[in-house]
Amino acid sequence: MPRSSKPDSQPRPIRIRVTSQAERRVRSGHPWVFADSVREQDRPGQPGELAVLYDRQNRFLALGMLDPESPIRVRILQTGKPAQIDAGWWRERLREAVLRRAGLFDGQTTGYRWIHGESDGWPGLVLDRYGTTLVLKLYTRAWLPRLQELSDLIQLELKPERLILRLSRKLSAPGGDGCPHDGSALIGAAGDGKARFQETGLWFEADVVSGQKTGFFLDQRENRRWVETLARNRTVLNAFSYSGGFSLYAARGRATAVTDLDLSAHALAAARTNFELNATVPAVAGCPREPVQAEAFDWLASSTRRRFGLVILDPPSFAKKEVERTGAIRAYERLAGLGIGRLEKGGMLLACSCSAHVSREEFFEAVRRAAAKSGRKFSVWKTSGHPPDHPATFPEAEYLKAILLNVD
Ligand code: SAH
Repeated sequence: MPRSSKPDSQPRPIRIRVTSQAERRVRSGHPWVFADSVREQDRPGQPGELAVLYDRQNRFLALGMLDPESPIRVRILQTGKPAQIDAGWWRERLREAVLRRAGLFDGQTTGYRWIHGESDGWPGLVLDRYGTTLVLKLYTRAWLPRLQELSDLIQLELKPERLILRLSRKLSAPGGDGCPHDGSALIGAAGDGKARFQETGLWFEADVVSGQKTGFFLDQRENRRWVETLARNRTVLNAFSYSGGFSLYAARGRATAVTDLDLSAHALAAARTNFELNATVPAVAGCPREPVQAEAFDWLASSTRRRFGLVILDPPSFAKKEVERTGAIRAYERLAGLGIGRLEKGGMLLACSCSAHVSREEFFEAVRRAAAKSGRKFSVWKTSGHPPDHPATFPEAEYLKAILLNVD
């Protein structure tokens, strides 16, 4: 039986007028209205309430979701013309996101992103697939009143065996108000929190209940494929290895050995599990793997003379806030310099950044500066940005970049 598309049971939408600058931004497709852009608001409102934005002529500008506690006061859902935001409207939005990924993955890849937040029209919401498990991650309180509706929609359209809820750090403080907590199951049972899936034929296990992000770094898939093509006959250092994603690809690409370097024993154990899951792949089974639990900067800077044919640097974000930008750029330069210091002649460096506050150009420049300062001859082979299941439609959404260098 089709779900009813009854009108939203919430009160009349909040009316908001914004500054002319914000008006221009919204018209150009930007999905956020910041608190300091709000000129008038007819009532305070609750998280998740619908808000209608009006322009200076009192005409409809956009419709969005309110988050009264966030500096991003309204997240835009629809511009152009008003709409009834009901079950049918959400269903269409979900189908659009699914359609956008049609043909991207075959049966060998069962881990990828179905919904990538604002850039898919779902502000502050991520939906990832890990085989038959889906993980819903929320970055704004505005979604909490709609959890049941979301879960019903996902059940109907995507039919997962399990749907796990993850909450961003700022949402995960215990509410005690009956709201499901970070890691709880909205469909099925959380069980041991592990979900198995394939990526280009390799098996992985993600800790969807307590792992980073939603359990795996799905966004690095394309860069991992580069690594597979580059690793042949090279020794590989995977710094900030997490659950060994890059290492598995290096091993399948016939690296002579891989070293996983991470601060976390838990991450290194997950990488070992992922190697074990692929023991039937001869190249993986035949590739020696060494785990190193250490602080990456310290380990890279320590006096050992060990060199590698391929060094991968994929650290966590160094700039979570704009004020950290300059320090982050310096840290990227230093890290790249240390990585280059570990390269044998003719070695390759893959340096990645996931800091949205550091631009592509700033990051690439920092890595180039490090290479220039090393005094070695180098060339940039490739750069990359976002994979297609992680679209970025506005500047703040562009966080991921990678640069590949060859160093003599
Ligand atoms: N490259 C990974 C994702 C890296 S996430 C992938 O493709 O899956 C960042 C990792 O860096 C985490 O596993 C975290 O434990 C580790 N980490 C954070 N700070 C670190 C440090 N200072 N030294 C070493 N590892 C660190």
